[in-house]
Amino acid sequence: MSAIAMDYPEDIRAILEGVEGFLRREVFPRHEKHEQLLSDSSKKYAGGILSPDASALVAEVRLAAAKAGFYAMCAPQEIGGAGMGLLANFAAWERIYHLCGARNWLGHHMISHWAKGPSPVIAELAEAGKAKYLPKIMSGEHTLCFGLSEPGAGSDAAGIQTRATPDGDGWRLNGGKIWTTNSPHADHVVVFAITDPERAQARAGGISCFLVPTHSPGFSRDKIIKMWGSAGTDEAILHFDEVRIEPDQLIGTLHKGFATAMLGVGLGRIYNCARAVGLGRWALEMAFDYVKVRKTFGKAIAEYQGVTFPLASSAMEIHAAHLMSLNVARLKDGGQRADKELAMAKAFAVEAGVRAIDRVIQAHGAIGMTNEMGLTDAFVTLRKINVADGTNEILRRLVVKEMLAGNVDL
Ligand SMILES: Cc1cc2nc3c(=O)[nH]c(=O)nc-3n(C[C@H](O)[C@H](O)[C@H](O)COP(=O)(O)OP(=O)(O)OC[C@H]3O[C@@H](n4cnc5c(N)ncnc54)[C@H](O)[C@@H]3O)c2cc1C
Repeated sequence: MSAIAMDYPEDIRAILEGVEGFLRREVFPRHEKHEQLLSDSSKKYAGGILSPDASALVAEVRLAAAKAGFYAMCAPQEIGGAGMGLLANFAAWERIYHLCGARNWLGHHMISHWAKGPSPVIAELAEAGKAKYLPKIMSGEHTLCFGLSEPGAGSDAAGIQTRATPDGDGWRLNGGKIWTTNSPHADHVVVFAITDPERAQARAGGISCFLVPTHSPGFSRDKIIKMWGSAGTDEAILHFDEVRIEPDQLIGTLHKGFATAMLGVGLGRIYNCARAVGLGRWALEMAFDYVKVRKTFGKAIAEYQGVTFPLASSAMEIHAAHLMSLNVARLKDGGQRADKELAMAKAFAVEAGVRAIDRVIQAHGAIGMTNEMGLTDAFVTLRKINVADGTNEILRRLVVKEMLAGNVDL
């Protein structure tokens, strides 16, 4: 039985079957075998970041997924990916989060996240750089992070101050980045820097994008940034001090790197729709099982509308978020910009996802708060996305801008 009238095309249905098979073979058994390491945060993290043992398991999953053809499925064919579009991207991520929930989190590494590995973002790396850097990125041996935000430039990302000044045939990079996901582990930073101060000041280009290995002299990770009371994090503050950049490290066109930044953030918005829908479905299914068996005052709590109506509201919202996400993925795959639809889908899906997890926690009572359930992890994951990849206010601003300009189709 399906709640969605549009079925996925055959190639995507085959991918989804493959995803499920991979999770059953490579992910769920690892979680069973290493339950303590992967679910007890005192073992999962060391020094505020993923411990070497947990990182090794992530790498095992990534490498196995690359061999099985899933890891680079959304990267363009010209760099060795499968070139699957946004619908496939959404479908696969949604299935992963739906099946893995928050507990079987190794599964979240089976497809390359747009900022951490093979994706359209690195497809425009200079030709000489492709031969040098891409093989290990495509195989999953090396990972990336995406350095756009700075302490003084978050929502207003074009206000960055990091500079790449000409130095012979290349550049020297100076500045800093903040909130950079995967930076504690990454082998390279995709970094955005001003290369033409006048154009950057006028907000007319002047920003370029580079691939910078994290072993480059002058690169440092200044601080790990823990969030939401967690013992560990994936974000850090980065510093660049006279870091030499060679011409083969340029991504895209000089001075036009902001387009690459927006390409990445757009991919992040679809990914986050999938996370919210997938985790929302995972949580709601648990809740509808639980309310049938938990009894109070002699009755299953499913008998109390005070318990079930909030869940019904979330079922409506997650269903709507699912449809909005499928719709925008199809519009974009069909060649439309659909920025308004993507902004609406991401803001709506993430807000609906946060509400769904919160309601599911409430329906479980105290057990909903336990680490074992994974619901609090799911809540924090989704709550953080109200800010990452465009805050919900910035997304509303984009919707307003488009509608004021006459793009009023809904
Ligand atoms: C978990 C996480 C991971 C992240 N990963 C990365 C990463 O990998 N790489 C990277 O580059 N960045 C990353 N970020 C940073 C993220 O992109 C920024 O946090 C985001 O763009 C918001 O910027 P800010 O935090 O500086 O908030 P600000 O821009 O200072 O905004 C503060 C508040 O004001 C609101 N606001 C600002 N301007 C307006 C306006 N014009 N109208 C209405 N409201 C407005 C915002 O919505 C927000 O509520 C990550 C953030 C988080 C939380």
